[in-house]
Amino acid sequence: MPIDPTLPYDPDNIFAKILRGEIPCNKVYEDDHALAFHDIAPQAPVHVLVVPKGDYVSWDDFSAQAPADLIAGFVRAVGTVARQLDLVEPGYRVLANVGAHGGQEVPHLHVHLFGGAPLGRMIAG
Ligand code: 5GP
Repeated sequence: MPIDPTLPYDPDNIFAKILRGEIPCNKVYEDDHALAFHDIAPQAPVHVLVVPKGDYVSWDDFSAQAPADLIAGFVRAVGTVARQLDLVEPGYRVLANVGAHGGQEVPHLHVHLFGGAPLGRMIAG
């Protein structure tokens, strides 16, 4: 079920629990600003999620409310993860779903990092 990105942050969402270490993840990278882990249902040979360490529902919330150091740290973390996974030369895709039309299901901002094969059309259909 897509989420409403205008609702307040829910501290019991699944990625908040992963960030607190309450449920496990297959970790790829972590620093002061972000955590990256493999998606539980990968849609490409490489499918990693990168989440900021802060209570932000969506890209909308994060881009409007997050402090500049967290925004910079998060963006740098996404790039670092892609380089660590050797995705730069073959190429990769970064995607953030927002709300119903975007198909966002987890109400904690996350960026999908896809790679490992040609990824086809940007939007299905
Ligand atoms: P969204 O549709 O919100 O952009 O993407 C949510 C993503 O989170 C989906 O690709 C889904 O497979 C992934 N996901 C949902 N629950 C879990 C979980 O508990 N662990 C991990 N690693 N990924 C999850």
